Amino acid sequence: MIEEKKALFIIFGGTGDLANRKLYPSLYRLFKKGYLKEHFAVIGTARREWSDEYYREIVISKIEDLAESEEHAKEFASHFYYQSHNVKDIEHYKTLQSLAERLDTTYQLDGNRMFYLAMSPNFFGIIAENIKSQQLLTETGFNRLVIEKPFGNDYESALKLNDHIRASFNENQIYRIDHYLGKEMVQNISTIRFGNHLIESMWNNRYINNIQITLSEALGVEERGGYYDTSGALRDMVQNHILQMVALLAMEPPTVFRDNEIRQEKIKALRALRLYSEEEVRTNFVRGQYGRSTINGETLSGYCEETNVSENSQTETFVAGKLFIDNYRWAGVPLYIRTGKRLAEKGTQIDIEFKNVPHQLFQTANDQPLPPNILSIFISPTEGFALQLNAKKVGPGVQPEPINLTSSHSAETTANSPEAYEKLILDCLNGDATNFTHWDEVAASWKFVDRIRAAWDTAEIEFPNYPSGSMGPIESMHLLKKDGFNWHWSPVTTIKDTTED
Ligand code: NAP
Repeated sequence: MIEEKKALFIIFGGTGDLANRKLYPSLYRLFKKGYLKEHFAVIGTARREWSDEYYREIVISKIEDLAESEEHAKEFASHFYYQSHNVKDIEHYKTLQSLAERLDTTYQLDGNRMFYLAMSPNFFGIIAENIKSQQLLTETGFNRLVIEKPFGNDYESALKLNDHIRASFNENQIYRIDHYLGKEMVQNISTIRFGNHLIESMWNNRYINNIQITLSEALGVEERGGYYDTSGALRDMVQNHILQMVALLAMEPPTVFRDNEIRQEKIKALRALRLYSEEEVRTNFVRGQYGRSTINGETLSGYCEETNVSENSQTETFVAGKLFIDNYRWAGVPLYIRTGKRLAEKGTQIDIEFKNVPHQLFQTANDQPLPPNILSIFISPTEGFALQLNAKKVGPGVQPEPINLTSSHSAETTANSPEAYEKLILDCLNGDATNFTHWDEVAASWKFVDRIRAAWDTAEIEFPNYPSGSMGPIESMHLLKKDGFNWHWSPVTTIKDTTED
């Protein structure tokens, strides 16, 4: 049953890339499905001077491909209002407040407000402060603040930002976006674990050898060089998306499947991450930066040649690491993670490698051990699962061979399933914070990441150290090899590992 939601959306950064590419299409999809109908309005704000009419034309142009008809798109856009506003100027919040009041009455919104901060994090604190001081918060409905990443660039800055925001909003009013949590297959991690006794009963250090998470990007930094050069892969990907997947894989079952209970379990898992000394960082983490290379006759720039990147940049575009969760369930099980830009193929995948059978009964070629059972979770672009088992090869004798049980969403299902932002906006309208990060998760993640950053900052490294189109520096392979493992997902072996076993 689709229930209409009542709300006023105030989008700070209403002319920006995120609003245009993600927020307007997502709001339209919710309109198309009937979650948004008559009782909603949107105020877009940014510095440039636009009229309501011009703003509506822009909004229509962003949903063109999705629109049922021109009429329908126009009807949707008629709920949009534009307010030119510099977030640093307090007077503007007064104008914003009177427009908000007017729209609340016109559309009968019951005082429900969603403040979406789709702009630079430098402004998050001041916007939250001014929203409160200029009485944009209502007494009657809900007031929810949606914040984009990055949330700080280390623990100290995140804490400062959090304190600033918390002076105006309670923790349960703050929705910190990590769009990976809106992805279908990331949400599926809990279902596959807690919906299957077969899986969950083996989900521990007695049966699992290691877990591997790869978040691989084929593109370079593109136009984001300026931002990326101050961030790097560790802060841009590991602190949020990868550690969120780690938390979902490692957490204990919640008593009920509800936001508070789930987030409490994730917090415990993140707090159990082993914090490394400088020496341990050197042993357990690898960083890389892509160099110039030629692929299929096309020359691609090295990272330091990209626009707005310093020519001697020490920023990493690749990270691989070995993590441990120090608790009863996971003691001794390594979690390997890797992410990088300009890698061989775009894809996000989790591989869970189970332990070998305790006693091998079958004869294999060259007397090799049987391949391990592997559960693969394909997050994107393919969505699905694969379970690698050993079965008898057809024919005489009992020669075992690996087989794969697979299940993947069809292209049609994937295309028709709600986009991450659509799901997250609807969750926020429903007051469901399951797929948003709690402050304690952010804090624990930064504390882990800060140790790595601090160790790296003590020594420079010779970059570049991997060519575009590979799967990162050779050391990333050694990280597993020295433990007797390999990355299961190897789309290419551009770099030949010639070292002895
Ligand atoms: P963007 O395209 O640069 O947009 C920034 C917006 O802020 C513009 O609307 C700009 O409009 C407005 N603005 C800048 N200074 C202002 C001021 N002093 N007062 C009022 N408005 C001001 O950035 P974006 O890519 O949309 O990113 C927004 C946020 O989302 C960032 O936190 C980013 O990290 C995060 N994010 C973005 C993406 C994405 O796909 N784009 C993905 C994940 C996270 P005017 O110039 O007209 O003022």
